[in-house]
Amino acid sequence: MRDLQLGDCRLHLVQGDITREHADAIVNAANSGLRGGGGVDGAIHRAGGPAIMEECRRLGGCLTGEARLTGAGNLPAQYVIHAVGPVWSGGGRGEAALLASAYRYSLRLAEEHGTASIAFPSLSTGAYRYPVDQAARIALRTVLDYCLASDGRSSVKSVTFVLFTADTLRAYEEALSELARARESGSA
Ligand code: ADP
Repeated sequence: MRDLQLGDCRLHLVQGDITREHADAIVNAANSGLRGGGGVDGAIHRAGGPAIMEECRRLGGCLTGEARLTGAGNLPAQYVIHAVGPVWSGGGRGEAALLASAYRYSLRLAEEHGTASIAFPSLSTGAYRYPVDQAARIALRTVLDYCLASDGRSSVKSVTFVLFTADTLRAYEEALSELARARESGSA
C-alpha cells in the first residue's frame, strides 16, 4: 500500500532521491550541530549549494526531537526543514518519543510557513541505526495523528515519504498497510 487519504491530507510513499522532490518543503535527517554529514544530509547540501549551510551555521544547532527551517538554495523545494532524529541505542532511551517529536516538529514548522506539501526521508534509519520497521510505524503514525488532529486546518495537504532503497520502501508499505487495517477495524 502506497497511498492513504486522511481527511483532506494525502499520505504517499515513493522510492527515490529527496533532493529531486518538488515539494514545498523537504526534510533533512540532520545532526544536532546542523553541520552537514553523510547520507541524505550530504546529498541535500551538495545539491542545494552553500547557501543552506550558511543559514544552518547561524542557527547554532538543534536539539534531538526538534527541527529548524532554512531556504532550499538550488533545490526545487522552497524550504529545507532540518530535523534531528535520535541515535538508536537499544530503544530504552526515549528513542520512539524523540523520533515522533522530530516528525511532529517538522510538520508544525511546515504548517507555520504555509506549505501545502512536505517530503520526508526515513529519519534516523541510516547512520543513526534506528530499526526501519519500528521507525516506519512511528513515522506514519505520527503523520496520521497530525493530519487527523488538524482536521483540515493545516496548510499541509500532501505528505510524501521519499525512500531511498527498495527495502526501506517495503518496510513503509507494510507499516502503512498495518495502520490502514487497524483504522478499518477501529483499533487506531
Ligand atoms: P540518519 O543519520 O538520521 O540515520 P541518514 O541520512 O544516514 O540519516 O539515513 C536516513 C535515511 O535516508 C536512510 O534510509 C538512507 O538510505 C536515506 N537516504 C540517503 N540518501 C537519500 C536521498 N538522497 N534521498 C532520500 N533518502 C536518502
